[in-house]
Amino acid sequence: MSHKLQAVHSSIHATAIAVSRRPDSVALLAVSKTFGADAVLEAVAAGQRAFGENYLQEALAKMAEVELALKSGQEGDVLLEWHFIGPIQSNKTRAIAEHFDWVHTVDREKIAQRLSQQRPPQLAPLNICLQVNISGEASKSGLAPPEVKDVARAIAGLPGLNLRGLMAIPEPTDDLQKQHAAFRRTRELLEQLQQDLGIQAGQQLDTLSMGMSADMAAAIEEGATIVRVGSAIFGQRERNHEK
Ligand SMILES: *Cc1c(COP(=O)(O)O)cnc(C)c1O
Repeated sequence: MSHKLQAVHSSIHATAIAVSRRPDSVALLAVSKTFGADAVLEAVAAGQRAFGENYLQEALAKMAEVELALKSGQEGDVLLEWHFIGPIQSNKTRAIAEHFDWVHTVDREKIAQRLSQQRPPQLAPLNICLQVNISGEASKSGLAPPEVKDVARAIAGLPGLNLRGLMAIPEPTDDLQKQHAAFRRTRELLEQLQQDLGIQAGQQLDTLSMGMSADMAAAIEEGATIVRVGSAIFGQRERNHEK
């Protein structure tokens, strides 16, 4: 698996260079959903530190197992970063606020309010991305683009949160032009938001979480700062785990 991880890094590097972006301006989030703690630990050994999870119960069990293994191992202090990237139900916000560093899938003010109230004060602010339904798919979660500004305004001042930017999962397509168009719209939406909100204390609005195994290149070319990559690193997931 470390060679797959290395290949993804090389691909990010080459794509960034080709569009005159600094390779280190694109962070790789390894999406480990459906894979076990052993797979995460293997990626950690290969240098990966940021992991994305979609399903809370699965994530909490895996995180505990990984942290335990790291503590009893000889690696010394390894600090991992955990990102929640799945749909959020209200009754899950407390555990998310207590255990994660990032949440990419906030699409309601109420969810953000709960995360803010429930973020333990001794922890660093929880990094938040608003999920945008950029392709306008009826079945997808995420804010409609015109809704983003008001929700961002409402969230921007909440204690315990750091509004970092936008996340999108465009409609899957092999058509590169369509991939680019969706990612470009997401970037333009973030740029608009930066203008509308200005830079407020503690709010960075510097993040575009977009691009997965199949469309990572187009996303990087359009400005992604975090790509969320699962199967290209860990292999195919079993079908029955897919939503
Ligand atoms: C599963 C998942 C990914 C990774 O998808 P791959 O196609 O395996 O790279 C990225 N983002 C989200 C939100 C996901 O659910």
